[in-house]
Amino acid sequence: MTRDEQIQAPRQPTDDAERFLPVAAPALIGNEKAYVLDCLETSWISSNGSYISRFETAFAAFCGVKHAIAVCNGTAALHVALLGMKVGVGDEIIVPTLTFVATANAVAYCGARPVFVDCEPDTWNMDVTSIEELITPRTKGIIVVHLFGHPVDMDAVWEIANRHNLFVIEDAAEAHGAEYKGRRVGRLGHIATFSFYGNKIITTGEGGMIVTDDDILANTMRQIKGQGQDPNRRYWFPMLGYNYRMTNIQAAIGLGQLEHIDWHLARRREIAGWYREELEGRSGLRLQMEQPWARSAYWMNSVVIGERSRLSRDEIITALEKRGIETRPFFYPMHTLPMYSELATGRAFPVAESCAARGINLPSSADLTRADVARVSRTLLELIGDNR
Ligand SMILES: *Cc1c(COP(=O)(O)O)cnc(C)c1O
Repeated sequence: MTRDEQIQAPRQPTDDAERFLPVAAPALIGNEKAYVLDCLETSWISSNGSYISRFETAFAAFCGVKHAIAVCNGTAALHVALLGMKVGVGDEIIVPTLTFVATANAVAYCGARPVFVDCEPDTWNMDVTSIEELITPRTKGIIVVHLFGHPVDMDAVWEIANRHNLFVIEDAAEAHGAEYKGRRVGRLGHIATFSFYGNKIITTGEGGMIVTDDDILANTMRQIKGQGQDPNRRYWFPMLGYNYRMTNIQAAIGLGQLEHIDWHLARRREIAGWYREELEGRSGLRLQMEQPWARSAYWMNSVVIGERSRLSRDEIITALEKRGIETRPFFYPMHTLPMYSELATGRAFPVAESCAARGINLPSSADLTRADVARVSRTLLELIGDNR
């Protein structure tokens, strides 16, 4: 099933006459429509227009950083961030193996090599303790991924990065508004990148953002995403650039979403609490454990199925689908994909492999009700054979 099908799945009555629950659907509860209409009525529909700068300014303020640069998607944001850090052929970049493919691909776009790290069992985030042994003279930086909205232990990452003079990029595509020790993600690395794909915490349809406090880096990255054009000399291209611009229409949707992000985050937190009440400690299920120093953005509510489950992970997903509950398996670890497997020969990733093989992302849209969460949980527990 493609990601588009997942987020656009219609809400129709199913066999048991209950509404279809998608994994993730956008909640357009604010000024999105009015702002888009404004773009159309004023004919500012391309990549100039006031919504771009309004969205960038508001997003920078939200993250507590100086600069935000809107781009066409989160993958492009990562690519530009790496180019901003001058990553090129022969460089090695440390990335978690349990992530969406874009994290590794952006490294490959630069001709550099992703070096994969296993995850740790509580948050399923990159196991920071195994980074250091992977560092070579070619290592330039680390991309941390705040998986499913849970922040990475950044002090531990910085300790290593500082010792080895490495850059740190946050792939915060899944974690808008998450906090590490009271500080929002987005200002915890040299650069952070976000995605506004339709299933993310807030959306622009397709879109992305790059944020940083570094003035020089911000100028360079702005130039790279705009074909490399010299900001003071039209049609003069002193460097190789890309057309990675966002449109004013996308930014209009994004601004409408961002105005209500506190609502989105509060709803997600409430829903995660309900899942915890229903599922924590039941029949060998493991949930993503929010750490004492963390405030997750709860992009996805997820479980790892225990060894004694009556049905396999894939059987559970199929059975839930039949009852109108869409779920999805965890990402395949990057080191298992054909294009990256050679980079990881001889190394073991036991935690990522076992989580990925047994993990399920549950319906997590911001508009879920208490009854929806009870229904998903009840059905899941029944399928794994929990009859408490
Ligand atoms: C969604 C996602 C991306 C890519 O974002 P797009 O906007 O789809 O290009 C990158 N990294 C992670 C971890 C993601 O979940």
